[in-house]
Amino acid sequence: MSVKINVSEIFASNVFDDATMKQRLPKKIYAEFKNTLLEGKDLEPHVAEIIAHEMKEWAIEKGATHYTHWFQPLTNITAEKHDAFINPQKDGSILLSFSGKELIKGEPDGSSFPSGGIRATCEARGYTAWDCTSPAFIHEAPDSTPVLYIPTIFCSYTGEALDKKTPLLRSMEALSTQAMRIIKLFGDTTATKVVTSVGPEQEYFLVDKDTYDKRKDLIFTGRTLFGAPAPKGQELDDHYFGTIKERVLAYMTELNEELWKLGITAKTQHNEVAPAQHELAPIYDTTNIATDHNQLIMEIMKKVALRHNLVCLLHEKPFAGINGSGKHNNWSMSTDTGKNLLEPGDTPHSNKQFLLVLASILKAVDDYAPLLRMSAAIPGNDHRLGANEAPPAIISVFLGDQLEDVLSQLCEKGEATRSLEGSQLETGVSTVPRFSKDATDRNRTSPFAFTGNKFEFRMVGSSASIADPNIVLNTIVAETLCQAADILEKADDFELALHDLIKDWVTDHIRIIFNGDGYSDAWVEEAARRGLPNIKNTVDATSVLADPEVIKLFEKHGVFSAIELAAREEVGYENYSKAINIEARTMIDMVKKEIIPAVMEYTTTVAKSVAAVKAVGADASVQEKVLKEITTELSKLDASVVKLEAATNASVKIEDPKAQAIAYRDDVFAQFAEVREPADKLETLVDEKAWPLPTYAELLFNV
Ligand code: ADP
Ligand code: MG
Repeated sequence: MSVKINVSEIFASNVFDDATMKQRLPKKIYAEFKNTLLEGKDLEPHVAEIIAHEMKEWAIEKGATHYTHWFQPLTNITAEKHDAFINPQKDGSILLSFSGKELIKGEPDGSSFPSGGIRATCEARGYTAWDCTSPAFIHEAPDSTPVLYIPTIFCSYTGEALDKKTPLLRSMEALSTQAMRIIKLFGDTTATKVVTSVGPEQEYFLVDKDTYDKRKDLIFTGRTLFGAPAPKGQELDDHYFGTIKERVLAYMTELNEELWKLGITAKTQHNEVAPAQHELAPIYDTTNIATDHNQLIMEIMKKVALRHNLVCLLHEKPFAGINGSGKHNNWSMSTDTGKNLLEPGDTPHSNKQFLLVLASILKAVDDYAPLLRMSAAIPGNDHRLGANEAPPAIISVFLGDQLEDVLSQLCEKGEATRSLEGSQLETGVSTVPRFSKDATDRNRTSPFAFTGNKFEFRMVGSSASIADPNIVLNTIVAETLCQAADILEKADDFELALHDLIKDWVTDHIRIIFNGDGYSDAWVEEAARRGLPNIKNTVDATSVLADPEVIKLFEKHGVFSAIELAAREEVGYENYSKAINIEARTMIDMVKKEIIPAVMEYTTTVAKSVAAVKAVGADASVQEKVLKEITTELSKLDASVVKLEAATNASVKIEDPKAQAIAYRDDVFAQFAEVREPADKLETLVDEKAWPLPTYAELLFNV
């Protein structure tokens, strides 16, 4: 039986969105609220009071009993604490209430979240405050009453951001301020702000839960720490866009339904390159809403999977030897009147505003490449970047033939006078309708690619919040737009100053443009010749947060204070050390309690077989050979795990966060391969009935 969903009826039915507010709020209050949003002013208490009341009434009609402030600490996941609407009365009865104050402000304990030293346990107070630009919604779950969710920022008693939403909102404002200066120079008098938009494509794996439950590594770390390759991987190219299995489609159907109810525009679904890997892409939205939605997508992906006895893996590299998962951050900026600043038009060479914006982005990406690299740095992503399945760890920009041609005319002749056009597509089939091609092909290997009217930042890890890359993108582009505006606003001859600025910036930053194969070794060498940084791991990437230029940049645009940056640097190291520590402990545990015991038992069987065969005078050489191979690997495994344990025990004691992260990277993480190698070899030698862990073949091909 197929399933029927009335999409237009359910879409956003659980969102206290603009339409719902317009319908439920008194006209005057609604108008006041809209004004607050437009002008970015503080919400008046009497407006908050009425909105809170209506929000509660609406939520109760939907069966809600609780509300929660919902925020995004420095963990890449979200946090919530539910409070019931109940309010006991003197006569012993219960009133259901929700005040304006409760809507606007919450007070969770600030000390129990990563804060990089900003919050000591003794000074615990933290605040959550409503982000009224992202609508409240109702979250439903089977066998429970719905809960009203209020998207909030999270900061300390002294006002420092303890979350990802606060700096994201600040960066959106910074970009708007600077981009407005630019569009005014080009005569735009109607726009009042510039808004950044994001469409994040989300990759994920689905594995069977019963199989998953037998792997401590998946349970504790989200990735397999052991596993010999399956006989089949992704070499046949038969999974990407392949027909979707029914069990997976049933999952996707329920996932879409849940997301649509929350007003999330889940649009595209398909199989990805690796076996058991899939992708979901929503339609792009304003950055803070897209970020909230991406958090919900990740959370609901996991929850719905469990209802289908599946587990959704969001780790960047769940399996060695096949592609991992990322998140493509499609980014653009538009005026509130709907003009996309990244729209080149048909003749980009004559679109001076576009060329200025483009030159500013090239300069931003080149000047702050290490910062952009940092924004995608989480331990799981270290496995992917530069491993020929995702962009290299080197930041470069792909523009495509058309724009590259325009820019080279500019650099060589000082003037761009023509734009390459897309030709007709010749298929050689007369019955296929003719259409014209895009002026530019695609390049899948570039970390930062222009794709028609947006840039696609492809480095982001699948489990990461998209807040970090967007905070950085917005801020670095705000900075170069600011520099451009500073020059152009003062220019006596605007046209001349504009022409020179575009030409100078393109010439100065041409090294960041690369249209070739980003996976090739030749590019690594070429990039080194060009002086482009190649930052290979999270620990090195994190240290850019201490760079005085970076601190100056963020302080100038009011996105981060020096204190907040120092805190984030520390949290970056701590998160890295914790992740590697958990992986090490899991590895040690699995080797000692599962792999070694299973191998010992199996060697006993083989040894008995040797003795028995020999006793009857037959040839036991095969049995002896197998036994020897296994025991050789077993002693290698034992020796390597002893080393790993010693390195882990030493690293855990280091107090300085950066020194500790370096130790975890160089002594602990570096030891993983030495433990894994004999273990994976043993998997290929031991009888599969005796092997204690589900294999890659079972994990990847049994859904
Ligand atoms: P791809 O072919 O790159 O896999 P998808 O269709 O999977 O493309 O995803 C493209 C994403 O880019 C979608 O989320 C889409 O909404 C988003 N997108 C399209 N136009 C813009 C834009 N102007 N700004 C930001 N994101 C955009
Ligand atoms: Mg896609």
